[in-house]
Amino acid sequence: MKIMQGQGVSKGIEHGTIYFYHRCAAKVEKRTGAHRQEEEARLERAKERSARQLGEMAEKARAEAGDEAAVLFETHAMFLEDEDYLAAMDELLEQGFNAEYAVQQAGEKFASMLASMEDSYMQARAADVRDVTGRILNNLMGVVEGGIHADGPVILAAEDLAPSETIQLDKSKILAIATQKGSGNSHTAILARTMGIPAVCGLGEEFNEDFHGRQAYIVGETGQVILEPDGEMLASLEARRAKQEETRELMRTMVGQEDVTLDGKQVHVYCNIGSPEDVASVLANDGQGIGLFRSEFLYLAAQDYPTEEEQFRAYKEVAAAMQGKRVIIRTLDIGADKQVDYFHLHKEENPAMGVRAIRICLNRPQVFRTQLRALYRASAYGKVAIMFPMIASVWEVKECRRACQRVMDELTAEGIPFNPDTELGIMIETPAAVLIADELAQLVDFFSVGTNDLTQYTLACDRQCNDLGKFFDPHHPALLRALKMTADAAHQAGIWVGICGELAADLSLLPTFLAMGIDELSVTPTAVLPLRAAIRKSIAKTCTLERLNS
Ligand code: PEP
Ligand code: MG
Repeated sequence: MKIMQGQGVSKGIEHGTIYFYHRCAAKVEKRTGAHRQEEEARLERAKERSARQLGEMAEKARAEAGDEAAVLFETHAMFLEDEDYLAAMDELLEQGFNAEYAVQQAGEKFASMLASMEDSYMQARAADVRDVTGRILNNLMGVVEGGIHADGPVILAAEDLAPSETIQLDKSKILAIATQKGSGNSHTAILARTMGIPAVCGLGEEFNEDFHGRQAYIVGETGQVILEPDGEMLASLEARRAKQEETRELMRTMVGQEDVTLDGKQVHVYCNIGSPEDVASVLANDGQGIGLFRSEFLYLAAQDYPTEEEQFRAYKEVAAAMQGKRVIIRTLDIGADKQVDYFHLHKEENPAMGVRAIRICLNRPQVFRTQLRALYRASAYGKVAIMFPMIASVWEVKECRRACQRVMDELTAEGIPFNPDTELGIMIETPAAVLIADELAQLVDFFSVGTNDLTQYTLACDRQCNDLGKFFDPHHPALLRALKMTADAAHQAGIWVGICGELAADLSLLPTFLAMGIDELSVTPTAVLPLRAAIRKSIAKTCTLERLNS
């Protein structure tokens, strides 16, 4: 028996085959005696395809984000014509090697040469050459990066997974997730919870590719990966699996019930989603609305800025599928751990406190406008509400409102239907927003507290850091008092307040939330029914605020 210990970040227990995910699934083979003309023609086609892709990316980048953003793709395209780079490939083709090997070797040679130069600008170009080389190779081999090439569902294993990778993977093939690195507050962990699959991260280097193909149990509650369990352990694991099934059965009896306490206080239980695909899980778990649609995942899943039309289709699909129930769509929250190459964000020492979320939108009005147009257009097809993340100041909200007004004026002039009464809300995620919540409440229709970020900024604890342990304490009285201040400010101004951070699903805090009068809790779809069961057993008027004291 072998037990590896990590951090459990998404509950549940699953058994299956470990599949180590490779960033590029195909391996470059070295062949000699290849047919020179054929290889040359293949290489030519791959280069043409790469040039076309880069040209399209540059064009869109220029239209949506300006010249600076387009330059990277143009630089990459220039490498496709670089004489030294191409000569190095040609030399290898001449020696009878296959095109893949020629590209890989020439790329590495050229990149190493750049990396060894004195000039730091030239050194940095080495990464660009590797990037272009990867693109040509993918086009040569027809590789779609990062797929799961397995017949049935597997335990997805990796060193770490970026949110953009997780979102692009075929979810029907994932039983559970296990990673060497990562933390419970990462967006990959959040995605695992949304998908309702067990996940363990931070397993360390001991968990490596040698385990590819082995059978294992993943236990989300304890953060363990267990191989070859002995008799006693096996019995306990199987008993837990049976219990899990039983609880799922019990929870199904909650479907169709109201989210009301025994003394009649209604708490709306909504869901957090990252893509239109997740709506199926919302409906299956009987979520009463969408409290947070993390729209940035549309951007993370794309190779380039999603167009207004693409976004409109996604938002409309969700709004229509929810059939008149509220769908709160958050404008893009890129930055920090959610990096998107084509945004070309500057590398920051402290990205969580850098140019992220609403700051990017306010800095790049064209990107913001495209998203707002798509959102307002979707508002004609359901009960859409728009929410702005990472607000810290009154002027930011005023500027968001002005941007919304401009878009509404445009749509009116173009005769495009939209709902002019679309609710506008903000996320309360910064201590600054808590402290001026009374002023902010005058400007919006609702608040939704993002406790993941509010915890990190209130306690000065990086949500991505795995080593903080007990220092990262979402039950800290400071955080609970911030929630109470926010709720009071909202209610005094006559607007509603919800929680959409992970804390909303924390059943141990439900009495505290009820005592504060929180109106809505937005949780991962699989947490809806357990939360409903707990609400239906509670008596709101007997709940107290004792947890607000240390
Ligand atoms: C939060 O910060 O609590 C939140 C819901 O937003 P995200 O986790 O996407 O940053
Ligand atoms: Mg947040």
